[in-house]
Amino acid sequence: MTGAGGFIGHHLVKRLKNDGCWVRGVDIKLPEYEPSAADEFELLDLRAWDNCLLATRGQIDQVYNLAADMGGIGYITASLADIARNNILINAHMLEAARANGARRFLFSSSACVYAGYRQKEADVTPLKEEDAYPADPEPGYGWEKLYAEQLCQYYWHDFKFETRIVRFHNVYGPLGTYDGGKEKAPAAISRKVALARDGGEIEIWGDGQQTRSFMYMNDCVEGLVRLMASDFRDPLNLGRDELISVDGLVQLISRIAGKNLRIRHDLTKPQGVRGRNSDNTLLRKVLGWEPSITLEQGLAVTYRWIEAELARAGHDEGSGGSPVTADDRGTSLVEVPTVRRRNSH
Ligand code: NAD
Repeated sequence: MTGAGGFIGHHLVKRLKNDGCWVRGVDIKLPEYEPSAADEFELLDLRAWDNCLLATRGQIDQVYNLAADMGGIGYITASLADIARNNILINAHMLEAARANGARRFLFSSSACVYAGYRQKEADVTPLKEEDAYPADPEPGYGWEKLYAEQLCQYYWHDFKFETRIVRFHNVYGPLGTYDGGKEKAPAAISRKVALARDGGEIEIWGDGQQTRSFMYMNDCVEGLVRLMASDFRDPLNLGRDELISVDGLVQLISRIAGKNLRIRHDLTKPQGVRGRNSDNTLLRKVLGWEPSITLEQGLAVTYRWIEAELARAGHDEGSGGSPVTADDRGTSLVEVPTVRRRNSH
């Protein structure tokens, strides 16, 4: 598992350990909030070819390639060249190293940022089907790199019959994810702002708040990844929720969870990404016989409480107008998540 020190990778390591797998985690950093459950954890910079060979050495059955230089919209629009170059190196080297070392399967983590900008100009957007990535007009830098790495995976099947899986994530959120520092995404950033605000106060939101997205809770994400890896599907596949919400709607939902009344100040000078983006899950349901089902209300309640507790622990509890954070809230109960409900067995 590359990116095992990151948000999705860390959760997926735990899931695979629970499933009885032996796991090697690789990253340039350790997980931020708790130790990794991996059997081995190696600190390697995967832009370097030799390190990718090390990462995939031994009898590795499955490679989940989750390492990437990435962050929220502010981060990915600020440094196009760095992000594209870093991710090209990681993905090209990891793919070839996994093949050269005899891995059986390789999963590449792509993104909804590959979708064409001209299809995402309305807040009331038509959900995006997999074929809507073409004719190509992806997010500059990060999105172009993801789209090309998807192609590279398919060339590896074409030329070498190397088994690759390609997942297009739509906004994943949950506990143990970055919530400050500039790499955080909207649900975590808004949760932090709400937790730090006093009841009756004001928070700043990037853009006019009418931009829309869908958000998937971590447990659904991990379930989908394991199912996709086990499937025989080699084309890109959406993995996301298809419940659309505006950014202002997200603020209202999180404020309600926090028990606070807040005013929103919109900063129109900040980047807000595409106008609207939603996942069409028709193919996902067909291929995996399943789709993400944890609602935003369920997932955000757990996520908000975790971020609130983290902030309190760091001494930033000045705006704790929501429910009080107890010592118990900081324990494992916070990362317990709603039961994953399956529509169909796999
Ligand atoms: P994350 O930033 O938490 O994790 C990525 C990890 O990659 C980090 O721990 C980072 O240290 C590591 N990494 C970066 N450069 C590296 C290098 N040179 N060598 C080794 N490790 C390196 O992000 P995440 O949310 O866990 O995302 C995982 C994957 O899913 C990424 O490929 C990302 O592009 C993709 N994705 C995530 C989302 C989302 O909503 N979280 C959406 C779309 C796509």
